[in-house]
Amino acid sequence: MGQITLSSVTKSFGDVTVIPPLDLRIEDGEFVVFVGPSGCGKSTLLRLIAGLEDTSSGKIAIDGTEATDLPPAKRGLAMVFQSYALYPHMSVRKNIAFPLKMAGLSPEIQAQKVEAAAKVLNLTSYLDRRPGQLSGGQRQRVAIGRAIVREPAAFLFDEPLSNLDASLRVSMRQEISELHQTLKTTMIYVTHDQVEAMTMADKIVVLQAGRIEQVGSPMELYRHPANLFVAGFIGSPK
Ligand code: ADP
Ligand code: MG
Repeated sequence: MGQITLSSVTKSFGDVTVIPPLDLRIEDGEFVVFVGPSGCGKSTLLRLIAGLEDTSSGKIAIDGTEATDLPPAKRGLAMVFQSYALYPHMSVRKNIAFPLKMAGLSPEIQAQKVEAAAKVLNLTSYLDRRPGQLSGGQRQRVAIGRAIVREPAAFLFDEPLSNLDASLRVSMRQEISELHQTLKTTMIYVTHDQVEAMTMADKIVVLQAGRIEQVGSPMELYRHPANLFVAGFIGSPK
């Protein structure tokens, strides 16, 4: 579970076309990175997949099911927001349990799922703290925990590390990669950072002005960049 197909998807805001017709297939279990300069449409594309924006035309399928018109909650995907999207007045436990509570699960099931997520994320001893009593990295893990408990078909990350300092960013990259190896769930990760893309991705999607310039593994993009834009952006010697 976690296979996502975009067929001739477009997005315009008023008269401005941000995503011209775009086709993309994401395989189950892949770690896919959308990379490109600021304003190229990475967040818009992710939000279209999440259902937070409506497509202007085209189709999105998730695990073979037509999902173009499904609301976000029905898509089985989890968007991981930056850590500042946590509720400051709630404990870590309550923050992580929040989507389960909204879904109407029993307190026992909520507790079970929160404990399991906390274990994966090394947050067990922090469950009774509030976000303000945690480090930036721990807060980011809580934000991820809130996604994990929903057991999504795919995790969607939009520059989740951009408000962390450089050294923490490096360790969180590692943690997210390890989490992917543990869960083996599809992850789509948006960044403008080439290093992040090259170190984390199974598959990189290079975007410029809403168009896909190239799709490939980090090594493919490095060795055989499709054009000067990709070569310049990835930093390979073409
Ligand atoms: P990125 O995430 O790659 O920085 P975005 O997807 O946020 O890029 O934005 C792509 C383009 O779409 C930008 O030119 C941005 O100004 C425009 N855009 C994004 N959201 C909206 C919106 N809600 N209304 C109008 N224009 C938007
Ligand atoms: Mg963005």
